Amino acid sequence: MPDGGMALGNQLAHGTQLALGGQTFPALVLNADFRPLSYFPLSIWSWQDAVKAVWLDRVSVLSEYETAVHSPRMTMRLPSVIALKEYIPSARRPAFTRFNVFLRDEFSCQYCGVDRPSHDLTFDHVIPRSRGGRTTWENVVTACGPCNLRKAAMLPKECRMYPRQTPRQPTSWELQDNGRSFPPNYLHESWRDYLYWDSELES
Ligand SMILES: [Zn+2]
Repeated sequence: MPDGGMALGNQLAHGTQLALGGQTFPALVLNADFRPLSYFPLSIWSWQDAVKAVWLDRVSVLSEYETAVHSPRMTMRLPSVIALKEYIPSARRPAFTRFNVFLRDEFSCQYCGVDRPSHDLTFDHVIPRSRGGRTTWENVVTACGPCNLRKAAMLPKECRMYPRQTPRQPTSWELQDNGRSFPPNYLHESWRDYLYWDSELES
């Protein structure tokens, strides 16, 4: 009964916010093959969406929080890990976003090689825009502030600064692979197995 499920989801969502003490209880969403839908941004849903999806029978619950929500007729523990019942193929070409450029370059400056948190990194146009360079996967690399300043509007051969790796469009697989080395800030205990089971085999 999808409509009943939706109504219940709404009913549960409404008025339980206070009871949950302001905590958010996000659910990690796995594809039907039990891998996360995406590493960045990590595929998580609000508990309201997770509860609705459970009632619509679109997902299986793999793990739960201690906390439960109540409606007049039933009680449900909030799901912490859910898996889609239908497999969603991943996008073939990754989006050209800030984050994905950093992820492709593994959060390290492509000129001096230093690793930095994302807020200390900048983008550098290998061929400067003022010299006709475009904003594309092939011409944008991750750079630390000092290197970016030093390179300014010069061509690589003018300043002898060449990117460590020739920039190109990464595949979704390459980004997923890099993503495993950069865990997000918030990780519920119940998510760890699903996020790390394959990376632990490599170490
Ligand atoms: Zn640098």
